[in-house]
Amino acid sequence: MKIQSKLPEVGVTIFTVMSRLADDYHAINLSQGFPDFDVSPELIALVEKYMRCGYNQYAPMQGVPELREAIAQKTFELYHTRYNPQTEITVTSGATEALYSAITAVVQKGDEVIIFEPAYDAYVPVIQLNGGIPVYIELKFPDYKIDWDEVQNAISKKTKLIIFNSPHNPTGAVLSSEDIAALKSIIGHTDAMILSDEVYEHITFDGFRHESMSRYPELAERSFVVSSFGKTYHTTGWKIGYCLAPSSLAKEFQKVHQFLTFTSNTPVEYAYAEFMQNKDAYLNLSLFYQKRRDKFLSMINNSRFKALPCRGTYFQLLDYSNISDESDIEFSKRLTIEHGVASIPISVFYNRKDDHKVLRFCFAKQDQTLERAAEKLCKI
Ligand code: PMP
Ligand code: GLN
Repeated sequence: MKIQSKLPEVGVTIFTVMSRLADDYHAINLSQGFPDFDVSPELIALVEKYMRCGYNQYAPMQGVPELREAIAQKTFELYHTRYNPQTEITVTSGATEALYSAITAVVQKGDEVIIFEPAYDAYVPVIQLNGGIPVYIELKFPDYKIDWDEVQNAISKKTKLIIFNSPHNPTGAVLSSEDIAALKSIIGHTDAMILSDEVYEHITFDGFRHESMSRYPELAERSFVVSSFGKTYHTTGWKIGYCLAPSSLAKEFQKVHQFLTFTSNTPVEYAYAEFMQNKDAYLNLSLFYQKRRDKFLSMINNSRFKALPCRGTYFQLLDYSNISDESDIEFSKRLTIEHGVASIPISVFYNRKDDHKVLRFCFAKQDQTLERAAEKLCKI
């Protein structure tokens, strides 16, 4: 049987490709973003508790009330905006599902969606599945800042959605208060909505504060704000995320969500709700990762790689132009196969495959893993 592909240009994701290559060649895997730290035993005990207590059937469609309450409370404390847990918060199966549901809820055939490149790979295919048209704006290399004049010029009557991701995967850039001011001055005159992917909200460095769209009423009123517990609690495999949105947007979001997954993992949702009462676990995360970033940077300081600024996320970009002229895809493969360190080439996150000779390394790894990787990188 042959079917006409709805996504003819989509192949296997780079994260799968590079993780597989790392496995095949027993390389240190700094490619796909996932922590190798143990999950808190307390959190695991909570999941077990809720499983044993019989919380094993479907959660309510919006997520268990205790978790929605805890998310509302955290959002209020950090960003000073109250979302109604009954109508404005939806728990999803990872941020990936939330991104899919938000895009699908609003994008119709022919609608334009502005995205910034390099862009995380989960946006464009969903825009296309809905008949939308991605409009690409490049973040300015090497510090990956937004040129707001370009945004102003790219907005048209057809612009339905603008997708932001801060802290930004793959570059580690973060939106500043100046960016927010520029966005406010532009978007007020449009009907565009915002999808804000904030899965790394608790990982910002050097005093940079996370600029959540939920902080700003005039932006929050048109935003889907998406986050994920996987990044915060070293539990990327548990796949629980959520979306904050004003009720008119959340209503349409939930129409998609209820037929995509309907609900997510009940005992894990209860466990997170209880675990979130310990605020230190997320409030200390920035410092935890800043130390790892600095450790990684100090260890590769004598290598021929050149580090780009990293203000958030658990990814560090390294420029290898002093080492090789190969394309970033070729070089990252050779680095994995011949030198035993897997990374992610950045060109794959561009529509036109721009190659700035930069690779992404995940530093959410134990000291020993980073030390072994750095030793190899310093020999190149
Ligand atoms: N957005 C970004 C920017 C990500 O990096 C990731 C995962 N690494 C996701 C969304 C997806 O999150 P989840 O695993 O919770 O689906
Ligand atoms: N988001 C993770 C990363 O950036 C990977 C998730 C995935 O494998 N799709 O590495």
